[in-house]
Amino acid sequence: MTQEISRPRKKNPVLRTRLPTLPPAARSRIALGLTAAAAQGRFELQQCGECGSVQYPPREACQSCLSTRLSWKEQSGEGELLASTVLHHSNDLFFRERLPWRLGLVRLGSGPMVVTHLHGDVPAAPAKVRVAARLDRAGQAVLVALPDKETPHMADDRQLREFTCDPKFRKVLVTDGKTAVGQALVKGILKAEADLVWVGHAEPWKKFTGLDELQIIPQVTLVPLDLTDSKNVRELAAEIGGKVDILINNSEYHRAFGIANRQGVETARAEMDVNYFGLLRLAQEFGPAMRSRGADGLASAVAWVNLLSIYALANFPSHGTFSASKAAAQSLAQCLRAEMRPAGVRVVNVFPGPIDDEWNQLLPPPKIAPQSLANAVVKALRDGIEDVYPGDVAQEWLERWRDNPKALERELAA
Ligand SMILES: [Zn+2]
Repeated sequence: MTQEISRPRKKNPVLRTRLPTLPPAARSRIALGLTAAAAQGRFELQQCGECGSVQYPPREACQSCLSTRLSWKEQSGEGELLASTVLHHSNDLFFRERLPWRLGLVRLGSGPMVVTHLHGDVPAAPAKVRVAARLDRAGQAVLVALPDKETPHMADDRQLREFTCDPKFRKVLVTDGKTAVGQALVKGILKAEADLVWVGHAEPWKKFTGLDELQIIPQVTLVPLDLTDSKNVRELAAEIGGKVDILINNSEYHRAFGIANRQGVETARAEMDVNYFGLLRLAQEFGPAMRSRGADGLASAVAWVNLLSIYALANFPSHGTFSASKAAAQSLAQCLRAEMRPAGVRVVNVFPGPIDDEWNQLLPPPKIAPQSLANAVVKALRDGIEDVYPGDVAQEWLERWRDNPKALERELAA
């Protein structure tokens, strides 16, 4: 049974900070298909369109019939552990620091044999397991064999925690506590046993709905944070930047305008100032400190979450300038992801459809409830997912965008 982790002790400031190392990251272009699915929390393997065989590792052609008609299909991951071993030596710096390390050989129900990282609760072979694809600290997909059924404190497994961003015992900054989404995030993250949460509010002199409720939560500290104010962001980063393990940037400015129904650029600029430049300011001030703490033991800096929008994929003309600001933010988030990766800090982008809030009042349902959005963010952290499309609208929009971006553009304009 997994030993429950305990709250990490205060760091000894005299000890040197361990520099982040990454597991081997080289993959073929074909193998990135596995990573693309794992980034969204799915385990997919190639299946042959001619003979139907499922194969691993990913290849250019079917290993049974040499057909090139291969497509990626989601796998249940059910399989049987045939053998296991424990590594006690490795020349690889990443694994060397984390020995002993358990590995297994699994035959999947769908056919292929795979080598996997092995959860501590999986008994000796033969045993039923569930294989999942997870992203490792280098951002590449790896296979992990988990116990067939949920076990106590399963997420606390030392090896599994290397692939996830579990909030347990971590210190979290939620940049905007004023919105319903922000408040749901704070509660969700505390339910996931986060150690403490700093909650930003841009106008500390103003009362807002839900403020009283936030203030009485013992783990919550309210901090003044206005993403449009470079000096304010810098000051807060100087104060807490070195302690934040998970940063959730949920600040956004949203007005329902297109181009023609509004004079001037003030609204569009205000949206850019929070949604795009706000992210940039945060990244410049908090990024370096989080990067330096990517390997800081049990409670290292692990994740940066951006609340984007499904409108970042294709412009929704009635929310046109907002869509544009989110598209800009998505592009910047990709840059941030590339810069955080060497430290093993994961950038999680969240693409919700319309949220059931003030600025989407005129949109008909379905709209995602703040609570569901917060749950999706917590689940993404726990499972180590990189791209999240929570709710039916986001899922459908993603599907249509993948299928034909041009068709989606026309449909949204209609
Ligand atoms: Zn085949």
